[in-house]
Amino acid sequence: MFSLSAQRASKLGATSTLNSRRFPHEDTIVRDVCIIGGGATGTFSAIRLRDSGKTVAVVERSSRLGGHTLTYQDPVSALKTEAGLVVIRRSPVSEKYFARFSIPLIKFEPPPPAATIFVDFTTGKKVDFSPRDPSDAFAAYGAQLAKYPFLDNGFDLPDPIPEDLLLPFGHFVKKYDLSAMVLLVSKLGQGLGDLLSQPTLYVMKNFGKTALEGFATGFLVPESGDNSSLYEKALAELGSDALIGSSVVSVRRDNHSVRVVVQTPSGQKLIKAKKLLITIPPRWRTSKAGVPDNYHVTNLGVGTPESLPKLPGIYEISPTGIPDLVNLKYGSPVPLPDEDVRADVMACLSRLREAGTLQINEKPEIALFENHGPFGLAVPVSPIEGGFYKQPNKLNGHRNTFYTGAAFQAHDATLLWEYTDDLLRKHF
Ligand SMILES: Cc1cc2nc3c(=O)[nH]c(=O)nc-3n(C[C@H](O)[C@H](O)[C@H](O)COP(=O)(O)OP(=O)(O)OC[C@H]3O[C@@H](n4cnc5c(N)ncnc54)[C@H](O)[C@@H]3O)c2cc1C
Repeated sequence: MFSLSAQRASKLGATSTLNSRRFPHEDTIVRDVCIIGGGATGTFSAIRLRDSGKTVAVVERSSRLGGHTLTYQDPVSALKTEAGLVVIRRSPVSEKYFARFSIPLIKFEPPPPAATIFVDFTTGKKVDFSPRDPSDAFAAYGAQLAKYPFLDNGFDLPDPIPEDLLLPFGHFVKKYDLSAMVLLVSKLGQGLGDLLSQPTLYVMKNFGKTALEGFATGFLVPESGDNSSLYEKALAELGSDALIGSSVVSVRRDNHSVRVVVQTPSGQKLIKAKKLLITIPPRWRTSKAGVPDNYHVTNLGVGTPESLPKLPGIYEISPTGIPDLVNLKYGSPVPLPDEDVRADVMACLSRLREAGTLQINEKPEIALFENHGPFGLAVPVSPIEGGFYKQPNKLNGHRNTFYTGAAFQAHDATLLWEYTDDLLRKHF
């Protein structure tokens, strides 16, 4: 779950006394646009704006660009696996973006199927389960989705909002007989919390055009199998325009300019810009375990609606193609401390071992742990009906500040680049 916390918003909006401090010339950066966040949308915006002749400064708190895009390289085999974003959709915007960095894209060929087992992670025991053919349900879902083309463009919702979009997804599934595709939707909707109680609006935003077109005609991936290479090239090109390892201390905005004080590894800097583009939100997680790497293990709820797993819990464990390295995804409808997640993962793996379902080491090793929370912006139905989404839309342009990123669109990089491209064309 992702929420634009009041605390974060007030921090960004706050006028700290530090802002009135005088910054020497060498600590003052003057740019057309200051971009907060260097993930999928922040990096795209920086490159797109520079290409159109604007000067930029990107403030990114981590030591790299890419956000949810994270490629893990096994130190032993040197093989790479995507621990975050894997595929994108065919689209002039995304294809031009990769071509811009001379990164060839190819059709995604899913790895050869591993042995798939379904396990109830609360007991660690195998469940006899055969997924149904989702084709008819997909067609029915596609027909519904086609009614709402506005979902591809941020949260520009009609008034009144169509009733079906406000139904809990579980009710929508029953209404249109979509049960056969729920498990697949839940796999793509990992991180979005309790799928069946989510308003259908959110499910359709995150399982929309990209998912349907991708399943029909195939997704795209870099030929190199390394999505991070785009961000490495972008960082090299941005040079000192990317302030990595940096965080915002304070922001002052008026109708003419913005002033952002940033804590960087080499001290505080003042960024003076004409416009501010806010793209910040989530991060991510995977783990290395002494778990057999030739299984795809799906957590299946026993006696739960649509057999979806109980959360917080493991969604699935999947092979990476790298010996002795698996990818494990865990979700929770509420934020949890990392230690609790690690402990619960280990307890789940112990149950699988004790139930004799899989041979798992007593002390699996975690190669990489990433917390992607907070992830999805979701508000209950009544504020959506009451016009909640008119507020963020009206914010665009107020005090020269603009907003993009998954919170304002969907967790779909291609849709995000299309949305951001449009936003930049209109306002920058
Ligand atoms: C495991 C996983 C797999 C995914 N797979 C796919 C996929 O296959 N295809 C697809 O289209 N989408 C996929 N997604 C979704 C996609 O990655 C996201 O929708 C996209 O990255 C969102 O872009 P963003 O710019 O909003 O956020 P991000 O890419 O997360 O970028 C936000 C950036 O802001 C930084 N930041 C946060 N707070 C601050 C702060 N206060 N100051 C400075 N910087 C800050 C973060 O460090 C981060 O770099 C996946 C997501 C996950 C988690």
